[in-house]
Formats: sequence, structure tokens, C-alpha cells
Amino acid sequence: MASIGRQTVSVSEALIEFIDRHPRLFVLTGAGCSTDSGIPDYRDADGEWKRGRPVMLQDFLANEHARKRYWARSLVGWTRMRGARPNDAHRALARLEYRERIELLVTQNVDGLHQAAGSTRVIDLHGRIDVVRCMDCSRRIPREHLQTELTRRNPAFAALAEARRAKAGPDGDADLEGVAFETFDVPACDVCGGLLKPDVVFFGEGVPGDRVRQSMAALDASDAMLIVGSSLMVYSGYRFAKAMADMGKPIAAVNLGRTRADDVLTLKITNRCADALSFLL
Ligand SMILES: [Zn+2]
Repeated sequence: MASIGRQTVSVSEALIEFIDRHPRLFVLTGAGCSTDSGIPDYRDADGEWKRGRPVMLQDFLANEHARKRYWARSLVGWTRMRGARPNDAHRALARLEYRERIELLVTQNVDGLHQAAGSTRVIDLHGRIDVVRCMDCSRRIPREHLQTELTRRNPAFAALAEARRAKAGPDGDADLEGVAFETFDVPACDVCGGLLKPDVVFFGEGVPGDRVRQSMAALDASDAMLIVGSSLMVYSGYRFAKAMADMGKPIAAVNLGRTRADDVLTLKITNRCADALSFLL
């Protein structure tokens, strides 16, 4: 831990006590959990956008230029995303599951790093960035397969990825400006020629109902909620904190900045996720 001041020690003890007192935890994780794995987050400490808003579903479906721009940036961003490895926050939560303390872990992240760290009771609320789905025939393919095809069709963009000059963004995105997206060649589904989309929930898109129902059932069965690295600015995550608060159950949060649920938290730890949870390792 960065500082060994009296306050830091007592804060850490408060979290240990919270976890000890509530054996069935509903855990909700967000981008702050993965920043130590080199994946940037969307929002600053005040919950505001750090960069441009990500592509909206409606734009992606309706607008060919939006798709070219998305996949061009993704071709470059994926080279970093696929190399990401779990950090101590993921490992600590996997250990907590091993100790049978987790009813369910619901993540807003699409990076699969909880599973890579060994967690199995996981719901990927917003899907997985390492999978691509055809919007027409629903066939799913590994993102890595598409990378081969994107690279083959777009050698100039692949060279940009190679040069690693573009700044990495959240969810396998990368900043690419001043390039001609019009020239980008986007592959279609091999089987039906349909439109390919990463198997993640875009902004402007609803979370599939079965994921919400499973999560709500686990929320009911849990005796407390632990939020790790999420500002809860997106409703899809905030609704769980709200439901928990409505049931009068305690909620603890580890987050570097403010969260949308700050006024209903039982315990708030303002610290990096890996540091705050390191006592579990
Ligand atoms: Zn298809």
C-alpha cells in the first residue's frame, strides 16, 4: 500500500471487516479494476468522459463510415487488448471466490480478465470484446480470427498497429486521427455476408434480459454488495446498487473517484483496486 498512515490502515481494516461480516457478496466490477492491466478507463475522478464518447449502436448499424472508423481503430487497439493480463485486483477477487464468499461477480468490463484470473461465477454484463458476432445469422467467431482478416485487407492500418504510436483507448479502441477511414476494408460474415459486430453491448444498446435477471436473482441471495472500480455512471450497473439500497442491504465501494451511489454507500474506499484488495492475496 502506498502510504502506511493511520488513516490508510483503518480504511483497509474497515474493508476487511466488511467482507468478514458479509459471507455472501454480490460483486460488481468496472473499468477501474482493469486499469492496472493497461486498459484505460472512460471516465475521470468526477465521472466525466476522459475522451470522446464511444460509438453508439445506431451509428454503427446505420452508417458505413462509423463501422470503418470503429474497425480501423479496433485493428490497432486490439494488438494491446489481447496482450492484457490480470492484475492483483482480479487475483484477489478470484481468491475470494475460491474461499466461497462470492454469490456472483458481475462485471461491466469486456476484457475477460476475471476469468483469466480464475473466477468462474462471472456474468459479463456488457459481453466480451474477444468475440465477434454476425448481426444476421448470429454466428460467433473469435476476435483473433477477424484480426487476421482485418490485417490482410488493410496493410497500411496494420502498419500503424505495428508502430504502436496510437494511444490505447478503453475496450480495445485506439486513437487514430488524420487517417482516411474511407479506405478501410471491413469484412462481412463468411457464411451469410451479414454485418459483423463485436459481441459487446454498445452505448445505446440494452443489456440482454437474461443477464439482468440472473444478476438480480444473485443480488436477492446476497447479503451485501461490493463495488470495485466503477463510477456506476452507466445505468446498467447503477441499477444493481439502487436495488441493493432499496432492499436495505449494505454496499461498499472501492473507487478512485466519486460514484453515482456515493450517498447510499455503507463504506467508501478511495484507493486503487489492487491496493485496496491486496490483503486477500
Ligand atoms: Zn452471418
